[in-house]
Amino acid sequence: MSGFRNPDLHCHSNRSDGFLAPGQVVERALANGVDLLALTDHDEVSGIDEALAAAEGTALRLLPGVEISVSFAGETIHIVGLDIDHRDADLVAALRDLRAGRSERASRMSDELARCGIRGALAGARALARNPELVSRAHFARYIVSTGLMPDVKTVFDHYLATGKPGYVEHQWSVLEDAVGWIRGAGGLAVLAHPARYRLSATQMKALLDRFQAAGGEGIEVVGGAHTPEEMQRFATVARQRHLLASRASDFHGVDESRVDLGGCNPLPQDLVPVWSRFCEVAQTR
Ligand code: AMP
Ligand code: MN
Ligand code: MN
Ligand code: MN
Repeated sequence: MSGFRNPDLHCHSNRSDGFLAPGQVVERALANGVDLLALTDHDEVSGIDEALAAAEGTALRLLPGVEISVSFAGETIHIVGLDIDHRDADLVAALRDLRAGRSERASRMSDELARCGIRGALAGARALARNPELVSRAHFARYIVSTGLMPDVKTVFDHYLATGKPGYVEHQWSVLEDAVGWIRGAGGLAVLAHPARYRLSATQMKALLDRFQAAGGEGIEVVGGAHTPEEMQRFATVARQRHLLASRASDFHGVDESRVDLGGCNPLPQDLVPVWSRFCEVAQTR
């Protein structure tokens, strides 16, 4: 696989909605044989320094990364940035604005959930979020599970938190071109995350890919925790047709909530050009 045996280019720590601290993510990845890992917390880079420190001197190369929330055609799209300068001033400022929007959204979500009879959701979700600036729907879902109302996080999403459900609130995230621009401005490579997860028509998906590439987006997740084998094949075809770099991405959040462990994804189809072909010759430190 172009110099790396087991790359995993998308995962979360407790700086967003993952369960492990950044250093623990690196330790688990190492134990699983990952040799190239990107930590990609939602709208947040505050875990990168801890992850870099944990990876130093080990067999694992840590790529600073981020997963940026974007609004597109009424759907939330995620753009992963890889090998970013996580101190880039424009990127840092943009992510701070996105996190401020999250706090405001969390209040509105809590109000909606209260209308459904679920009380104390904001305090409950905040208590579960290790980063006060990063309350995600996952924290709301975990709180609702903790009250005993629902058996698991997936059921909470199906009933309350997925798009259009009673606890869902509309929210304006970033603009696609801006998100790709912040990543590129920080020296990074932009990758479209889990494309099969978006509820877009064929026309809308084409427009998304056209605009993503026109903005300078270069990669797409093909193999990952979010994709079935059929979805993997579908987006392998997209990568071939559009000459996109292909990524392999567990999207690991924690053992209880992730189908695929760190480094546990299937290999990429052999003929695709892997995203990490870009990272083979580059020096380890910037
Ligand atoms: P947010 O960025 O706050 O809207 O939260 C999105 C996060 O919620 C995702 O990154 C997942 O961690 C989690 N999530 C979204 N949909 C589901 C689902 N159907 N089941 C479980 N977790 C989900
Ligand atoms: Mn998440
Ligand atoms: Mn995502
Ligand atoms: Mn993710």
